[in-house]
Parts: sequence; structure tokens; C-alpha cells
Amino acid sequence: MRLARRDFLSLAGGAIGGVALGNVTLRGLSRLNEALAPESALYPGEEKIAYSICSMCSGGCGLRVRTVGGKAVKVDGNPSYPVNRGGVCPRAQALLQWVYHPDRVLSPRRRSKPDQPWETISWEEAVNTLAVTLRRLRAADQQNRLLVISGRGSGLVTQLCSSFLSVYGGNPLFCLPSGMETTQQALELMAGRPETSEGGAYRLAYDLENSRYVLNFGCDLLEGWGTPGHTLRLFGRWRDSSRGRRTTLIHFGSRPSVSAVRADEWVPMEVGTYGAAALGIAFVLISEDLYNREFVANSTSGFEDWTDAAGRQHIGFRRWVREEYRLSVVSEMTGIPSETLVRVAREFASGPGAVALGPRQSPTQPGRLSDALAIQALNALVGSVGAKGGVTLVPDRGWPLPAQDAGGIQPSPSLEKMLSLLEQSPEVLVLDEAAWLFDVLDTAHLDMLRRIPMVVTTSSLEDATTSMATLALPDCSPLEKWAEGQSPSVYPYELLGLTEPVLSPRGESRPWTEILLALAQATDPAIAAKFPWKDLPALLRANADQVASRQNGYLFGAEVDEQWQRLLERSGWWGPDWNSAEQFWEQFRTKGGWWDPVGWPAEPQRSFSTPSGRFEFYSLKLDELLRARGGIRAASQLPPDWDRQILPHHAALLPPTDPKQFELVLEPYEPLTFFGGGMRELPFLQQISGPYGGPKGWQSWIELSEEDARHRGIQGEDMVWVESARGRIRRRARVLEGAMPGVVGAPLGGPPQEGRWAVPEDSLAEILVPISDPVLEVRSHTVTRVNIYKV
Ligand code: SF4
Repeated sequence: MRLARRDFLSLAGGAIGGVALGNVTLRGLSRLNEALAPESALYPGEEKIAYSICSMCSGGCGLRVRTVGGKAVKVDGNPSYPVNRGGVCPRAQALLQWVYHPDRVLSPRRRSKPDQPWETISWEEAVNTLAVTLRRLRAADQQNRLLVISGRGSGLVTQLCSSFLSVYGGNPLFCLPSGMETTQQALELMAGRPETSEGGAYRLAYDLENSRYVLNFGCDLLEGWGTPGHTLRLFGRWRDSSRGRRTTLIHFGSRPSVSAVRADEWVPMEVGTYGAAALGIAFVLISEDLYNREFVANSTSGFEDWTDAAGRQHIGFRRWVREEYRLSVVSEMTGIPSETLVRVAREFASGPGAVALGPRQSPTQPGRLSDALAIQALNALVGSVGAKGGVTLVPDRGWPLPAQDAGGIQPSPSLEKMLSLLEQSPEVLVLDEAAWLFDVLDTAHLDMLRRIPMVVTTSSLEDATTSMATLALPDCSPLEKWAEGQSPSVYPYELLGLTEPVLSPRGESRPWTEILLALAQATDPAIAAKFPWKDLPALLRANADQVASRQNGYLFGAEVDEQWQRLLERSGWWGPDWNSAEQFWEQFRTKGGWWDPVGWPAEPQRSFSTPSGRFEFYSLKLDELLRARGGIRAASQLPPDWDRQILPHHAALLPPTDPKQFELVLEPYEPLTFFGGGMRELPFLQQISGPYGGPKGWQSWIELSEEDARHRGIQGEDMVWVESARGRIRRRARVLEGAMPGVVGAPLGGPPQEGRWAVPEDSLAEILVPISDPVLEVRSHTVTRVNIYKV
């Protein structure tokens, strides 16, 4: 008998947790890793411990590095660094393989075309080669023919690059999305922008350390959500019995991911129904009177039916949910049994510190706004917006780049916009740590890239960006330069990290920051005047002076001292750790950074910076945005079902298709080891990425359920075709115990395509059908209908 998806959903749940992914294990060093072993062996000489900041992803965790005889031999977490407090994710363990990689690009290079051999050149020639072209474009008023794409997270180098582009004119910097943009926009629409004093920047933050109950709608918490080093540390604390309380984690999702399996309970559900599930839980909270009545009555609007200034009647959130999202309806949409929704809702509402995360989000797969609105409505119902253990938007000042007129951060265009800029034939494309881009580019886009006259890479490894480039400006590894960090994604406090170089740079590699300063000098005196620092330490010192003058926060120290300082500050006492800018600078770089741990709202937020001054279940900003987009000027022009578009709702994710044509739904995911793209040239990361690593290199796979495999005569390790409306690719099959029938998973990205350990294979991007959010118009590769059959 064939097990249908519906049967699976009713049988499954937490019971399946713990069986999946059982064969994803650390396999130890293989021959690939042995190739690098001589470089990381012990060396005679003095042993030292130094501190640095990881840039293997945008998280920027603090590192503790052991060196022997001038060689780095071990990397751990820095116990004083508040983001990760001594922990690191597996990616950081591969850092030494980056430093000592046998194929490191160690000097600037140039060539006429990508298929021509490289010529090694001096830094002066390299910077001038780029500066001459930039000058010519500027003289012809064609600055928009320069496009810079970065894979770095927020930080001083990103701000400097963005400022350079702002002064140069033309396109803003495109950065790898954090994946949190949709959730942030939903919260901004419903709760308003926070008050900010400098620059106006802000970001999404969760107080997960103090959360009691976490409802996770599909986020891969343990595989690269937010800042992995921080999230993994939190996960350990949630289960730390010495805290005296345990945080419960409930995972809603369609794939037996590591996060689903390690959660207290996995609630399997139909793909793309997060909004419906959240509204089903809202239905229980409202029907059973379990919601936070005080917060809803005093601090929200749109909960009850209301009439606007033009006299138009609107349905309130309460009636909307009770009429449209009854349990039987939600259960039918999501496949989640009604009793599960009721039980989870009651637990969620049973005390403070409950928070809902999601929808499923990652840098290349932003969730949908309609789902995010429903999830934020859930947070409002339990009073967790701007409250301890909850979610809020916090000011994000970051590094106070001196000379504000050098131009601040401009908003990055969306992935959609970036692809359209690529289509407009830029003359110069700079790829700064941007190997992630190749996970989302199909053959047509790669051909566009090949037609760009000058492609510049900052990569220090032979990767997809160097294969396309005609000019290589190799950056150092993080251990070979001044490292700086700032508050990473979803982190609740303001923080700036700073460390000196641990090692001398290998070869002629140089920090990208210094290349940018040299480029400003070489391009135009008017631009150079905005960037007067002679090198990176001079720039960092100027920034440090500004932080010192803020007169708040603390230099990093032992956790126990910080808790005492926090207590004092909450009681109205604060005393600086420094007496002068000079003293601040000395301690800033030796202690590793500065932070302000008192920033999270001490008292629950009561008023919001929305048009109504309250949290809005019916976002007036969204109403205004959609009216403007539709050219609607008068209320009489609004369609009768207008409120449906504004209120949190479920929207079908996949376009209707003949189910016989494509029976399965493919959900790509980003494994932790390749989170944010790049670094797949490192053998250790290849090795721990999945079941098909080995001496010949890593191979991508497709995960399918035992039922779907049996039905197609497929066994584990068979080669299969995965076919969508866009084409077909080959993959090795992985039959996954616990996987839902009808849903297949696949890692986004694959083995290296360049270098000595390259494993050529079809790109998943060739078959993914992009989906665009109807409101935000943001492109994502969330799900695609496919068929699978044996090769
Ligand atoms: S989470 Fe990112 S920054 Fe932190 S250790 Fe891992 S790779 Fe490095």
C-alpha cells in the first residue's frame, strides 16, 4: 500500500525526530584533508594564544587561535566574545585549511580573457588597472556600469565599500541578503520603525536567551539561521539544566532537517503553509481567550472591526481569524492535526517569553510577507513584540565610519534587481567574496557574466569567481589582517569587535579594506579626499575614537563582570571602563571589542511608531503601499475584498500544475557547512557536508522518502534525473527515513567547480523555478515542482 502525504502527516510528528540524518556524520580526515595535513602539523617554536574574528560567514564570531612557531595550529571560540562565548560552528574548524590552502592566490593577477593564462602583476599595477577604467566611466557619466556584489556581512569593510560607491556615483553595493529581510519588513509594517539617533539604520533582533517557548516556522535554526555560532550556543543554553528552566522548541516544517530532528517536537506540514498554521494557532488563542488581553487592548489596533476616516468598514483580526481560519480549514490546508494546533497554542500562551520565528528563511530563500505577517500577529497576541524573550527592531549604528559625508550605507537592491543590473551589461563587475552568487545563477546568467569586459575578484582561493575574472585582487585570510565585527543577524545587542592580525599575510595578499583605500586614492582626488586614512589601522583608530565618545557600553570582559555591570546600569549606574580615547583604543583592541548589553527593552513596549501609534494587525503602511502601487486614489476604487490583502493571511505558494506532470515538491536548503556560499574548496567542509563526501570529493544529492523511492524503483545511491518545468539535472539519490512522501530536499550549492578538488556536476539552479513575493517583489528559490526517475 502506498503511504500518501496526508497519511504521513497524521502519523508523523515528534515521533519521527531522531531517526533522520542519522548517517550524516563526521567521517574524520580523508585523503583530501591529508593533503593539507603537513601544513597544519605542529611546528617547533614558541606557543602563543591570540584572538581574531571569524569571517567564514557573516556571523563574525570571536576566535581564539593557538600558534606554534608562527603557524596557526588550532582555532576555538573566544570565551569573552559575547556573540559565541567560546563556541564556534564547524565552518570555523576549516579556517586553517583556508590559511594554508595549497592553491591560495597570493598575488594580484591580470589576464585579457577568462580563458587566457594569468599574469602576476604588482599591487600598484592592479589598482591602477581598475582605477583607469573607473575614471573613464566616471568621465563619461557611466558610473552605473560598475556593479559590486559582496558576500560579506555588515561591518566596517561593507560600510567602506558602500561609501566608496556612494561617492563614486552609480549603483549601490549589492550584499548577500541575511535572509531576515522579509520578517524585518513584516515587523516594520506592523510595529513601525524604531527611533534611531544615528544614520537611521535598524535591524531585526530576538531575545532568544530569555525565551521560554519557541515556535519555529521552518527556520533551519541549527543549519545556518541568523548567526550559527550564536544560535548553536543558545540551543545549548536552552537545554542547560543548571539554568533551572528549559526552553521548549517546536519546529513546524516539511523536511526532517537537523533543526526538526533536534527540536522538542517536529510538526510535519504541507510545504508553504506557515501562514495558515500560524493563523490556526491564532484561532485557538482567540477562541479560548488565551491571548494577552492587556497588550491587545492597550497596544494594538485592528483587532476588532473598525471604521476608517473615510467611513469604510474593516473586518477586525479577531473576526477574520475566527471566520477564515477555523481549525478544520487550517488542518486541511496544512495537514497538521487540529489537536496538535490546540495543544501547541495552549503551551505557547501559558506564560511570558513565548516567541514565534519564521517563516523559513535563508540568504537565497527569503520567506513570504503574508506568512511573516501571520507569524508576527502571533507574537503580538501573546504580547512578545518588544518584550523580554520576544522580538523587536533595534537601532543598528554599526561602525561609525568617520566623515559622514563620505556617504552612508545605501539599501542593497533585491536579488531580482541585481539580476536585472547584470542584464544591463555592466562594464566592470567586482565580485567580493561572492562565490555564493553562483548557487543562484543558471546558464543564461553565467553567459551574461562571461560577456562583461572586466570581472574583478577578491577571492584568495581558486573558486567560481576567479574562473570568471580578468583581474584578481586577493584578500588575506581573517587571521592575517585586522579583523572587525559588529552585531550579527538577529543578535539583540549593539556590539563592535576588533582584533589585530594573528599571522603575517601569506605572499602578497592584502586586506580588501586597504585595496579600497588605495583605489579611492588612484581613482579621483575628489574621492580620495573623502577617504583620508593611510591604512586600515588609521581608519579603525578614527572609528574607535567615535565609539569612545558615545559614553556608553563596556569593553569585553568576563561574563560574571558583565552581569554585574548590567545590573548596575539597570539601576541607573554606569561608569566608563576608559578615561580617554587613547585608553579606549588600547583596551578595545586588546580585549577584543565593545558592546552595550543593556539595549534590549527593559520594560515591555507599549507604544509603536506606526500611524496609529500601536501594533497594527491591519498595517496602514501596507494599505498605503498597495493603494499607491495599484493607483487607487479613492476608497470607492477599492475592491470589496481589499482587507484580505492587508490582513495576515495564507497565500498559495506554488502555482497550480497538473500533479501528474510533476508529482513532487523540491525544497532546496543551505547546509550549515556552506551557509552563505563559498569556501567549498576546503576539504574539511566538503567532508562533513553530507553522505557522499569521500576521497573523490563531495557529491550533491537529492533526498526522498522511502515511499517515493519504492514507488519509483529507486534505491539509495542510485543516480536519478530530477526534472522540473525548466529542465533536468542528475543527482545521487538519498532515501531518507522520516522524510515526508511528496517532498524532496536538496542542498543548494554543490562541490567546488574549480581547483584541484573540483567535482563537475549539474547546478541545482538550472531546474529551480524562481518565485516572486507578490508584495515585496523579491525573488526566491523556495520550492519547485519536480519529477524524479532513475538514470
Ligand atoms: S557562525 Fe559563521 S562566523 Fe561564527 S564560527 Fe561559524 S562560520 Fe564563523
